[in-house]
Amino acid sequence: MIHTENKLSNKAAVLIEKENKYGAHNYHPLPVVLERGEGVYVWDVDGKKYYDFLSAYSAVNQGHCHPKIIQAMINQSQKLTLTSRAFYNDQLGEYEEYVTKYFGFDKVLPMNTGAEAVETALKICRKWAYEVKGIPENQAQVIVCENNFHGRTTTIISFSNDETARKNFGPFTDGFIKIEYDNLEALEKALSASENIAGFLVEPIQGEAGVYVPSEGYLAKAKALCEKHNVLFIADEVQTGIARTGKLLAVHHENVQPDILILGKAISGGVYPISAVLCNDEIMNVIKPGQHGSTFGGNPVAAAVAIAALEVVKDEKLAENAERLGAILRKGLNEIAERNHLIELVRGKGLLNAIVINSGEDSDLAWEICLKFRDNGLLAKPTHGNKIRFAPPLVITEEQIYDCLAIIEKSLNDFKM
Ligand SMILES: *Cc1c(COP(=O)(O)O)cnc(C)c1O
Repeated sequence: MIHTENKLSNKAAVLIEKENKYGAHNYHPLPVVLERGEGVYVWDVDGKKYYDFLSAYSAVNQGHCHPKIIQAMINQSQKLTLTSRAFYNDQLGEYEEYVTKYFGFDKVLPMNTGAEAVETALKICRKWAYEVKGIPENQAQVIVCENNFHGRTTTIISFSNDETARKNFGPFTDGFIKIEYDNLEALEKALSASENIAGFLVEPIQGEAGVYVPSEGYLAKAKALCEKHNVLFIADEVQTGIARTGKLLAVHHENVQPDILILGKAISGGVYPISAVLCNDEIMNVIKPGQHGSTFGGNPVAAAVAIAALEVVKDEKLAENAERLGAILRKGLNEIAERNHLIELVRGKGLLNAIVINSGEDSDLAWEICLKFRDNGLLAKPTHGNKIRFAPPLVITEEQIYDCLAIIEKSLNDFKM
């Protein structure tokens, strides 16, 4: 975006150019170079302060550099950082007990990134299908949804329908059936069509697709259908989990306990790459020594950081805050939409929200609007063309929400329709 780069300071421009020259071009960042964060705020290299309305894709739910989480990381890193799982360490068992009781499962398998946790869940599901359900070897199928986002590994992009994510990365992994999201009939049909269905992998809200909230009752009915067909309901809560949508998990809005739960992002408060797969013994016990693993998964720093990050969620009542302030944010956005028809639609749950810009998916208007937000002190990013996600850290206050609504309206008024 040439015409905005002239607004960048020399310092910022030099740093952007370094990334451009020495880094792979696998992202298209908004032109702003950050050097510090605290709570809901981040500062750029020139000292300008912004509201963070992305929270690193919902990893920083507890706010930037939360002192309690940072302290846990400092303390543990000065003592012991990595043993590998070749030996026991004094932190992992404590964390495993804490996280399983926290979410109500028998066992956890610790990994590092969200994509790894999705891969882990799929492997556990397949093994369960062969060894417990009795599906013939190599015949297991997992049902997934159109417009899903579960990460970037070769297997995961095999069942994506995002051409940008897939093109020229084939050949792809077999064993997936894609159905329409938020369509129970399609699910029932796919479940009935074969004896070889092992699992149904679903995002309780499709975040990357543009914060698609399914119809009320969808998750509970989908879970019931899976039960009826002896198929594992696998919830990818990497983005929706850890209080983001106003409950500890988004599936809790419909009182669903998944068979397999996938967590990542905010399980560390954005401090360290930590992910987890949780399920009960009859499923997790299909995994035996040597069959799956990760050098860094379950390391002592991760264990200490995750306990602190999850404690913050409870201590600071972040789910309640997300529920209450999300309602205020959406109400404010809907009021702006009445005055400015640039906003076609407001949707979301808790503090996972999006506005749809009245411009069509191919327009770069949403990008231009995000540049204007940036100029006015708020950072957000378009997703899938004309959608802008609004997902601030959950430690945000009511007063700050009103401040942000004023920034959003002022910015949109420059493009008024
Ligand atoms: C971000 C995300 C992932 C992938 O997590 P990474 O840590 O980037 O690998 C998987 N599923 C969902 C729903 C996500 O939002």
